[in-house]
Amino acid sequence: MNSPKVRVRFAPSPTGPLHIGGVRTALYNYLFARQHGGELIFRIEDTDSARFVPGAEEYILEAFRWLGIKFDEGVSFGGEYGPYRQSERRDIYKQYVQQLLDAGRAYIAFDTPEELTAKREQVSNFQYDASTRNQMRNSLTLGKEETDRLVAEGHPYVVRFLIEPGEDVHVNDIIRGDVCINSSILDDKVLWKSADQLPTYHLANIVDDHLMKVTHVIRGEEWLPSAPLHVLLYRAFGWADTMPRFAHLPLLLKPDGKGKLSKRDGDRLGFPVFPLEWHNPVTGEVSSGYRESGYLPEAVINFLALLGWNPGGDQELLSMEELIQKFNLEKCSKNGARFDYVKGQWFNREYLLQRPAAAWAPDFVRLLAAQGIDTTEERAAEVVEMMKMKVIEYTTSEGPKKRNVSFVSDLWPLCRFFFVAPTAFNREDKFVKKNWKETTASEMQQLRDVLSTIDDFSVEGQKAVVDPWVEQSGLKPWNAWRVCLVGEGQGPDMYALAAFLGKEEVLRRMDFAIKTLGSCTV
Ligand code: GLU
Repeated sequence: MNSPKVRVRFAPSPTGPLHIGGVRTALYNYLFARQHGGELIFRIEDTDSARFVPGAEEYILEAFRWLGIKFDEGVSFGGEYGPYRQSERRDIYKQYVQQLLDAGRAYIAFDTPEELTAKREQVSNFQYDASTRNQMRNSLTLGKEETDRLVAEGHPYVVRFLIEPGEDVHVNDIIRGDVCINSSILDDKVLWKSADQLPTYHLANIVDDHLMKVTHVIRGEEWLPSAPLHVLLYRAFGWADTMPRFAHLPLLLKPDGKGKLSKRDGDRLGFPVFPLEWHNPVTGEVSSGYRESGYLPEAVINFLALLGWNPGGDQELLSMEELIQKFNLEKCSKNGARFDYVKGQWFNREYLLQRPAAAWAPDFVRLLAAQGIDTTEERAAEVVEMMKMKVIEYTTSEGPKKRNVSFVSDLWPLCRFFFVAPTAFNREDKFVKKNWKETTASEMQQLRDVLSTIDDFSVEGQKAVVDPWVEQSGLKPWNAWRVCLVGEGQGPDMYALAAFLGKEEVLRRMDFAIKTLGSCTV
């Protein structure tokens, strides 16, 4: 028999912004689907109305549009198996819950939350299961007549899955192999609630995966404990033959220390844990996103793809096409993947450097405008070209650090002087101190006079006049000239900087420095 067409799904609950771990899950589903010429479904699991957050669904869709993860069907994409939002599938679930009830694989329970709490206080480690269900208020203890009466009278109830104890349940996981647990440790999970006429996650998830002909369930490790229950549900429905294969992906771990990656790690170390900036509609809190922090989508994709899997060898830069070709679900790691955000910055730098300076320019112009600087994309691109290979210093909770320019926004603190002339000099600055001596002002005056004679102020034009003068005068004017134009010991080649600023601005800055620093030794 031919194996059925690969169909996978990404099924978030719209309870807030999508965590970066969820993005990795969606990406692996996407790679797997593309690689097998299959289909990727976008399903919204919104049966828990208490946790619904407005805007979350749109946020998730926009994140995937930005990242280039494309869905073939689902919410907002259409398809033959809809509706794809679970809150719109009540009637379907009701019918399947009835099927389990009729087959004696599930039962109705009337225990109120108060009764359950009382029971938990009375019996330590209370679990609603084969050993306790006969002490509770349910259709098994009350009988059909009483149950029907209570239901007819409108008493709220839930439907619970009847789990037979003492059975070994095997989950054949593509990544983890055979995972076996005994059904005795499982409780009779609630599958449906009369109060909101909605199923719980477990029932809706299984019914939809079946009806939507899902062949592989690729999801985070946190769902592994639910998998045995899901296997039992497939069997109870009589769908064991078409049960999807499971693959539980490794957790994303903190960049340092133990445990799983959390939003707090991002806040502490200064990296986003969400793909896009998120504005919490209730608290107004804003959380940073990869997009707004200046990451390129292809860098985020490449970085995430290698958290939990790698193609072997030392190629690290992989395009989406290459990832699709090389991805191997079976080779995913069982162990958690450390969230090395510094590596994420490295990827961003690599992808930024693959782009010409002109491609950095629009963002840079925007950043400059936010600083009150009005310039053209051509000018901005010139600065990018001169500065993109520089190192920046930045501060973290662990003190000052250095790294290569990895974001367009790294350029602003490095490039301010291209657009803003020094208005004061820091006489305590080591570079200024070292390079401005008693005779410096007069030397700069000489250089100024030489420069003022130049008509062609390009790098070559300046060189032709200044190099011979330097040779002949025996002076070393470079560092002091840098103090004049930059105000400190950073920046590109002096001729390149001067050519960018233009003759008039260069002379103006030199006059100001000569006047301000004068002949005093700083
Ligand atoms: N709705 C679940 C979530 O929020 C889906 C888990 C699954 O993929 O089965 O991740």
